[in-house]
Amino acid sequence: MRVDLDVCIGCGFCVRDCPVEAVRLSSKKAVIDTGKCTNCKVCVRSCGEGAMIVEEHCPENALECTACPIRCWIQPGALGACHRYTQTEGCLERTTPLHSFEDVREIVGPEPRWEIMEPVITAIGSGTTYPCCKPAPHIVSDQRGDIDVVTVVTEVPLSYSSVIVKVDTDIGIGEEGAGIFIGKRQVGMVETEQYGSKMLHVGGVNRLTGEHGFAVARAITDIANRKPVKLKIENGSRITVQAGKPPVIDGTRVAKMRVGCGSAALGIFAPLFKEAADEVIVLDAHVTGLMSEHVAGSYAGARPTGVNLIFSQSTPGRYFGDHGEGWGGTSITDPVDIIESVDMNIGWAGMKILITETTGQNGAMFLVEESGIVRKIPLTGKAKEALEAIESSCEPSLVSAIYTAGSGGSARAGVTRFPIRLTQAVHAGKAHLTVGGSPVFVMPGGGISFMVDVERVKAGSFYWTPTPATICPVEYTMEKGEYERIGGHVAAMKPFNVVNISTRSGG
Ligand code: SF4
Ligand code: SF4
Repeated sequence: MRVDLDVCIGCGFCVRDCPVEAVRLSSKKAVIDTGKCTNCKVCVRSCGEGAMIVEEHCPENALECTACPIRCWIQPGALGACHRYTQTEGCLERTTPLHSFEDVREIVGPEPRWEIMEPVITAIGSGTTYPCCKPAPHIVSDQRGDIDVVTVVTEVPLSYSSVIVKVDTDIGIGEEGAGIFIGKRQVGMVETEQYGSKMLHVGGVNRLTGEHGFAVARAITDIANRKPVKLKIENGSRITVQAGKPPVIDGTRVAKMRVGCGSAALGIFAPLFKEAADEVIVLDAHVTGLMSEHVAGSYAGARPTGVNLIFSQSTPGRYFGDHGEGWGGTSITDPVDIIESVDMNIGWAGMKILITETTGQNGAMFLVEESGIVRKIPLTGKAKEALEAIESSCEPSLVSAIYTAGSGGSARAGVTRFPIRLTQAVHAGKAHLTVGGSPVFVMPGGGISFMVDVERVKAGSFYWTPTPATICPVEYTMEKGEYERIGGHVAAMKPFNVVNISTRSGG
């Protein structure tokens, strides 16, 4: 990388963003340390003035890393842009050696012992004691192997609660941060997208205790109980979500989730695409792929075609998409619109271009004429095969939901007289938390904030109360000795064989 000193205004954006600290400012001009620069082009993207000049050829002493599309040129003793690779004695080496599990066992920490992994009874139908300092409704002991275990169960009202809803689709449903409404009442917001899925967050303490708290509590509970719930995204789609079922977006039941981004689709299917067309464009809102430029295309033997896209390039063959209601969740509704131009100094008349998206559900084929104009033609047999290969590799689109809540508050008093000892026991793996018998993920740090897959909890186990809060069946299982140590309500403990399950289930 070089700097055009006539253009550089000394803003320092390149200094701020360079991942290997290869740029500094001197007399209000950027100066590049060529011994450190990797040619990663981060500064090219950061510089609003166009002052960075890309070198055409790898310097003599540098080695090209091919572990990702950035393809850093790494000088002796320098780091690649990701800090994972360095050049030592003429070879590229990982900066961190390969680790065995033993190397990390202590950091990973111990798993809870098997005897406490399953509760003696679940909290489903257990009821709640109020105020919380009364012993929990059921404190039940049993013998597992050589040890006595205790499970304490309560249906806990939780005002810190919500559901995170994952909707497997690349269809644009609304902007991240947009409100989610039931009727006119806001119950949540759109979260950061995940791979092939849109994420919705419904609930949360501030909405539960806000103006529309009852609607929020009902929405969380209905989703957690796997009922269908109709949501409207602010300036976006109408969507029906039901855990375990396909989403219905603007009246259409979504069938497939994408196989990967446009670049990933090329990474998987490039040899098949090469058989189908001279150029393949895979439209995707995240990364749109262009076969002839992509490393997978080169690997499959694709040659340059001179096709230029309207999207901006991330790395060769990978273009940042946009969001809309078109193919691959982009704004492109007529596929030919993705092509900005065809450079006929590189391309040739008769060249075939296949345009598709990451589910393979839409596909169109074009022929390049001598003038560089593209004309739509029917899909060839090979093109249909390629589309079918994508479609058959896509998983069904589903809605899934994670109920998440904090039970580290007063409800602990029904378990023990010293609540902090319960929190510590949970984090130390000595007291095992389950919800309706299902395993949970306990978030690290303070409190007992947990997440559970609602499809692993018996449907109908969640309720809501007009406090407002949602009610969740919570069990803590531990060794009897541990229960005594944390100051548990030992006097309220009863053996499993005297607990009347049928009476309890009806209560
Ligand atoms: S190309 Fe990358 S490593 Fe080189 S100066 Fe720019 S940001 Fe830094
Ligand atoms: S893997 Fe790291 S060092 Fe290698 S090209 Fe990519 S960013 Fe550069």
